[in-house]
Amino acid sequence: MSETIFTKIINKEIPADIVYEDDLCLAFKDINPQAPIHLLIIPKKPIATINDIAEEDRELVGHLFLTAAKIAKDLGIAEDGYRAVMNCNKNGGQEVYHIHLHLLAGQRLGWPPFAS
Ligand code: AMP
Repeated sequence: MSETIFTKIINKEIPADIVYEDDLCLAFKDINPQAPIHLLIIPKKPIATINDIAEEDRELVGHLFLTAAKIAKDLGIAEDGYRAVMNCNKNGGQEVYHIHLHLLAGQRLGWPPFAS
């Protein structure tokens, strides 16, 4: 897949407000927050979309959710709740083709998210 802006963030070629990092993933603040807390959790391995997740990526994708839960606990938002979502392709609203979990929190979030 072609390189995205997230690869540049992983390689520290462009700045980001990084809140968590380990061997497998990175979490940073979304540049255009849609909630009081809006983080992106991305694998260091570039995977373009949910459709491109391979069998070998099972643990990695699970790790993204475990990391979301860990960050939520550390931020003290786990009990009040949050949303962890991944958009896929055009109709899913995906803009950056390197999979990422959106972690949204800090207010009661609307549902269903049908805004165009
Ligand atoms: P999606 O629409 O699901 O692909 O989400 C992409 C997200 O990446 C959007 O919420 C953008 O605001 C966010 N984003 C794009 N560029 C950056 C950046 N350089 N730093 C932080 N967040 C970014």
